[in-house]
Formats: sequence, C-alpha cells, structure tokens
Amino acid sequence: MKAFVIAEHAEAASALAAGARTLADEVAVAVVGSEQVPANIADAAYHVAVPEGAAADDAAATLEALLDDVQVVIAEPVRHVKSIVGKLAAAKGASVITDCLSIEDGVATSMYFGGVGQIRRKAKSGIAFYTAGAGSFGDAQPSGSNAGAEELSWVAPAAALKLVSSEPIQKSGVDLNKSDVVVAAGRGFSEEADLDLARALCDKIGAGLGCSRPLAEGAGWMPSETYIGVSGLMLSPKVYIAAGISGQMQHMVGANRSGTVFAINKDQNAPIFKQCDYGLVGDLKDVLPKITEAL
Ligand SMILES: Cc1cc2nc3c(=O)[nH]c(=O)nc-3n(C[C@H](O)[C@H](O)[C@H](O)COP(=O)(O)OP(=O)(O)OC[C@H]3O[C@@H](n4cnc5c(N)ncnc54)[C@H](O)[C@@H]3O)c2cc1C
Repeated sequence: MKAFVIAEHAEAASALAAGARTLADEVAVAVVGSEQVPANIADAAYHVAVPEGAAADDAAATLEALLDDVQVVIAEPVRHVKSIVGKLAAAKGASVITDCLSIEDGVATSMYFGGVGQIRRKAKSGIAFYTAGAGSFGDAQPSGSNAGAEELSWVAPAAALKLVSSEPIQKSGVDLNKSDVVVAAGRGFSEEADLDLARALCDKIGAGLGCSRPLAEGAGWMPSETYIGVSGLMLSPKVYIAAGISGQMQHMVGANRSGTVFAINKDQNAPIFKQCDYGLVGDLKDVLPKITEAL
C-alpha cells in the first residue's frame, strides 16, 4: 500500500508522514510553497514551488500524475492544501474525508456539526483522501531515507487562479501546538487591556496564550492563528488553563485532549466546570493576578 502526504508546513509533513507510515508500507511526501521537505521522513519526497502570480491552490495539476499508484492521500488541514486535495479527489472521482481525529484500518473518525458528535467513514473504493491534523496519529515517528526533495515543474491548470495581492498577517510568535502549557482567554475578558493579566501569567509559567474564537474573529484582539476549537487549533498540551471561557463544544473539542484542564469563570454554572479537572469560581480580574503572584 502506498500513501501520499501533501503539506504546506515542514512540521506537518513530518507528522503526517509518520501517520502515513502506520497506514502504508510506502510513503511519499510533497510540500507545496516556501517550506522544504525534512530529510528521512519518507521513501520519496517532492517540492512544489509556486510561481510568481500563481496561487498555491492550483498545485493539484502538478501533483495529480503522482497519484497513479497511490491508495491513501493525507493532507494537512490548511486552506491551500484543503483546496488542492479537494481538486485531486474530484479528478479521481473520489470524496475527501475531512478533519480526521484518527484513521485506523481505513476507517476515519471525524467530528460533525461543529463538534456535537463523531462520525466514522471509510472510502468504498479507489483512493482514500483524508485531511488530518498533526496530532491525529499520536506518538508515531516518521521514517524514511529521503535526503531532500525532487523539485517538480509547475503545471498550470486549464482554469488557473490569479494571485491579485497578498500581505502578511499579525503573528503571535508562539506555536501553541508546541506549548506544554496553554492559557486560553475568552469573552470573559471585557477589555483588550485585561489580556495583559493572562500574558503576565503566561510569562510566569512559560505558557503560550491562545483564545476562544470571539476574541480573534469578533473582537480582533488576538491573531486568528491562536484561537482554539473545531475551526481553529486542535491542541493537546499537558496543561490547559481556560479563563473567561464558557465551555461551548466548538471550543472544547480543541482543548479536551489536554492532560489537565483548569477553568476560571465567574459563573458557577458555566458549562466548562463540567469539563475541567479543576475549577475556580471567580472574577478573572481578581483571580489571575493572585495566581500569577502565587506561582
Ligand atoms: C460552526 C461554529 C464553529 C465554531 N468554532 C469555534 C472554534 O473553533 N473556537 C471557539 O472558541 N469557538 C467557536 N465557535 C463559537 C462557540 O460556539 C462559542 O460561541 C465560543 O467558543 C464562546 O467563546 P467564549 O467562551 O469566550 O465566550 P462566551 O460563551 O460568551 O463565554 C464567556 C464566559 O466568560 C465568563 N465571564 C464573564 N466575565 C468574566 C470575568 N470577569 N471573570 C471570569 N469569567 C467571566 C462568563 O461567565 C462566560 O461563561 C464556533 C461556532 C460555530 C457555530
């Protein structure tokens, strides 16, 4: 069996190659964009540079010929790669099973309706296409003998996208996927300046600061790359400290694989208190400075 991994980021390429190795005896990896394929993660490796004025979403035409002897495709769940894998699946007359939490014996477990339940699906025939996050394959380690990657020549599709413009977005500088301890701020922070209370706690305990979606996409106080939940980051840190977060399912599915969950909320009936290991009822403006001082 041969698996093919498509990623935009080198780290995801590595993690998904490790997962692919649990499903197939032969693993090939392609990275699309500016990052490179790490060495020793696959049996074959490819790199696709996106030409000036072209869109990464159109890399499907470049990759399609490589799928002829492939049974499984695993794609990093980021916007460009989702678009690429959708086009590849369409070209092969297949569907994509998205947001897989795990893939075992050809059966993929995903969430549905924003995380209210789980669904298990498998491809009936042809190539099985999946999107899966780096954490979907547990502690699997990549293996392989690729030294670098073969540079593929860009194949423009018949109806190509035209890149009109692009600009960098605000970056947090913190990779929450790698943080052992995450402090997550929610709408209980009524003013942007109060986030300094969470930042002070993070500095004290070496944590990364994340948030619920409203703080990133509603208030715009935090970079969108830092919100946690079904449509954001799916994390599994050792410790998760949720402050001013109610505990809606769409948020908690991104946090409930944490080792230990602490919750701070002024409402003793907040749903998060049913989903945490330790709960503290109190106003975060009082509680956070005291915790920071005490630690
Ligand atoms: C399709 C879909 C996808 C979604 N995806 C995501 C996602 O990926 N991530 C995500 O986060 N959300 C997502 N949401 C939104 C989600 O449903 C919730 O609306 C959101 O998570 C709520 O954020 P919150 O807990 O910060 O805010 P709220 O639900 O408003 O909760 C705020 C909490 O703060 C407490 N509080 C208020 N003041 C204080 C204080 N001074 N001290 C202590 N506590 C206080 C309140 O008691 C309350 O419990 C999604 C929704 C949909 C429909």
